[in-house]
Amino acid sequence: MAFNMSEAELKDSTRAFLDSGPKQLFINNGWVAPQSGEYFASLNPASGKPLAEIALANEADVDAAVAAARAAFKGHWSQKFLAGDRAALLFKLADLIDAHADTLAELETLDNGKPYRVSRKGDLPYVTKHLRYQAGWADKIEGSTVPVTFPNQFVYTRREPLGVVAAIIPWNFPLLMAIWKLGPALTAGNTLILKPAEQTPLSALYLADLVAEAGFPPGVVNILTGPGLPTGAALAAHMDIDKLAFTGSTAVGAKIMEAAARSNLKRVSLELGGKSPNVIFADADIPAAVRGAQWAVFSTAGQECVAGSRIFVERAIYNEALDALKGHVEKMQVNHGFAEKVHVGPIITEAQMKRIQGYVTDGQKAGAEIISGGAAIKDLGDGYFFEPTIFAYQDDSLPLVQEEIFGPVAAVTAFDDWDELIQRANSTMYGLAAGVWTRDIAKGHNYAHQVQAGTVWINGYGMIDPAAPFGGYKMSGFGREMGKESIELYTQVKTVWVNTYQDTSKPE
Ligand code: NAP
Ligand code: MG
Repeated sequence: MAFNMSEAELKDSTRAFLDSGPKQLFINNGWVAPQSGEYFASLNPASGKPLAEIALANEADVDAAVAAARAAFKGHWSQKFLAGDRAALLFKLADLIDAHADTLAELETLDNGKPYRVSRKGDLPYVTKHLRYQAGWADKIEGSTVPVTFPNQFVYTRREPLGVVAAIIPWNFPLLMAIWKLGPALTAGNTLILKPAEQTPLSALYLADLVAEAGFPPGVVNILTGPGLPTGAALAAHMDIDKLAFTGSTAVGAKIMEAAARSNLKRVSLELGGKSPNVIFADADIPAAVRGAQWAVFSTAGQECVAGSRIFVERAIYNEALDALKGHVEKMQVNHGFAEKVHVGPIITEAQMKRIQGYVTDGQKAGAEIISGGAAIKDLGDGYFFEPTIFAYQDDSLPLVQEEIFGPVAAVTAFDDWDELIQRANSTMYGLAAGVWTRDIAKGHNYAHQVQAGTVWINGYGMIDPAAPFGGYKMSGFGREMGKESIELYTQVKTVWVNTYQDTSKPE
């Protein structure tokens, strides 16, 4: 498998997909033009050039997709497809994704910018691992029998699907985020409307044909492209959507919750942003910890919700660790995703790059010290590239320490004692993830118990597994994806009471 290639060497299937004209909306297993007649361009962030024209779904298209999903839920999907049948379709879809993995990975790199090696060897295998794990749940979703205080009552519970689920996802792991929602939603017997991010719709649109090929009945999976306004907002406010699963920023998550409350109280689960602390104690394996901290913040160019963007180093080893981190970071190669040597790809959009630059400029003005990087890279063409950047700071109130930058920027600080560390680590509104590096296992566990985060890694960072629950504390959201918790997120419990009283007295 070659990872260094030019775009001229794309697979024929990738080229054919890109060249096949404007991309339409996927409703009822077919492609339909948007009712507004409007299209927008998806750009390649490595070049700034358009890749394809994409349909823009408005409220009327959302209505059509909801009608399709509702009809499928009431009809074939719930009547004829038993748990094992749903699993079989999901396994078939996973096989098809594997068979098309090269093309999907190429589309992911073109649309999102991430290194092709990462798309092909990271995202794609993980997509199908996740789908197969979820498919395995289909025939294991059980209820229980309940020992109530009333006599002669047989009480049992059923776990039933919610109905029509809408999923709104971000651009950083486009296909993976799609499958994180599609897998448990369909496994549990719901139907789905997926809205990919406007910056990265291509892999989801390619997936649509695989959904139809796998044999899912029409209307079970519908894909609507378009921006937050109007497409996402129309989904959030719709009266006939039963659940909205969202991954994205905290600000938009709050808007979605509000829209859900003002419409039909649809269920909401939110996977939101983070500003995750990664702690290196003096007793850690320092080279491993520094390497771990480097990748925790700079992989995917820092555009990861779990990015370990606040690095706390115990003062005794602060200078040593900071020097080592700087040494590693300065060897990182920033380049386009198909280049032979690339560790860090482009930033998703020009606007996002300007935002990152803003944090860097303001951080310097406010007294934080740049240890490495700090500037946009101009000699890689018209794409959006930014140097991996390290800041040293003391003041926890700085915006660059409090706010999610979603770019390749690490903020490093020294700490002296335990209480100070716990207070500072927990001092943002976020609580998605945390890391800690120490050889003292008791210290590691105690830190894990005191830090406010949905996931904690001790002597590691960034692993997310289909079997391990994942989600946020505080303003990083609520609801847990992965593991059996993901099934709870896409089902509701019904309690059934059966009167078993029998008159056993002898007739007079
Ligand atoms: P975003 O701006 O919140 O967008 C996420 C999705 O919401 C996109 O599909 C977006 O549409 C849509 N959207 C925007 N405004 C909307 C509205 N008013 N109503 C309904 N939908 C709306 O986030 P992003 O910039 O794409 O992604 C980065 C963020 O996602 C970061 O904050 C990151 O931490 C978070 N994230 C969290 C996790 C996690 O698991 N916790 C994982 C990955 C990313 P368009 O973009 O198409 O306009
Ligand atoms: Mg794009």
